[in-house]
Amino acid sequence: MAKLVKEGSEKGRLHIESPLMGESLVSKEFLKRTEAKEYFRMQPEINVVKIGGQSIIDRGATAVLPIVDVLVQAKEQYKIILMTGGGSRARHVYSIGIDLGMPTGVLSKLGDKVSWQNAEMMSVLLNKHGGVKIGHGDNLEQLTMFCRRGYLPITYGIPPYGFFEHPAEIGSIPPHRTDCGAFLLAENIGARSLIYLKDERGLFSNDPKKVAKAERKKLRFFDRISARELLELDLDDLIIERPILTLLQRAKCLKELQIIDALHHPEHILDALEGKHVGTIIYKEE
Ligand code: ADP
Ligand code: MG
Repeated sequence: MAKLVKEGSEKGRLHIESPLMGESLVSKEFLKRTEAKEYFRMQPEINVVKIGGQSIIDRGATAVLPIVDVLVQAKEQYKIILMTGGGSRARHVYSIGIDLGMPTGVLSKLGDKVSWQNAEMMSVLLNKHGGVKIGHGDNLEQLTMFCRRGYLPITYGIPPYGFFEHPAEIGSIPPHRTDCGAFLLAENIGARSLIYLKDERGLFSNDPKKVAKAERKKLRFFDRISARELLELDLDDLIIERPILTLLQRAKCLKELQIIDALHHPEHILDALEGKHVGTIIYKEE
């Protein structure tokens, strides 16, 4: 039970006694003691599914509608929150911002509306099947309730950094975009799974779209790799945002994520939800 105690001299601070009392919350030795034996998972039945902006939505009806069909089917069996990527329109506004010398936080504010537009579009398409667009406020605590009632909640993937976005390691593009947003939500609600819907089979040693056709066969495919190993490989380009690798290593709840080719194989969404390995799995080493 917390109680008020007076520290040190007459002019000492008043504290409510707790194990954190008087700590700066910076000490490494102290922070180790705050590790929980097991973390509480708030929404363990929820599957976070992120639909790519550039990789899927920007391709229009031929790419999106077959995925909508599978999601409608999947929601009968699984609890899903759909999160949307940005894509070409975000890239366009970033490029104008970069040309104007805008810093990262400004670019973040400029780009976030696109993921929001895509969430709007997905909710229009899914509305008659129970699709409901939600914001990042209290609704994120109600995902299980929405899904139990037959809804398919949809939200934008972009995390709410804006002017508080971290400076990028290289260049100026905001490092935490919609792949990171999906990761952070999945981790913090203790989700059942995290699945990225993209347009490639998974992770290769290089971007298959940037190498000549003859070279493509020579690329190495990673069907399963740990975040640590992948960081060590230090590949020039990745199929998901790079900060996820560092974040996954620190994850308390999430053990792995899967990247699948939902463009050519929308049915793989059901497989991945079932726990089947159909793309690239990136996992956290214990
Ligand atoms: P999204 O719209 O889903 O965020 P992006 O276009 O941002 O998708 O990223 C996915 C793309 O990343 C793939 O379509 C692929 O062309 C590219 N990519 C870059 N590096 C790799 C890699 N090492 N392996 C596979 N794909 C890669
Ligand atoms: Mg992307």
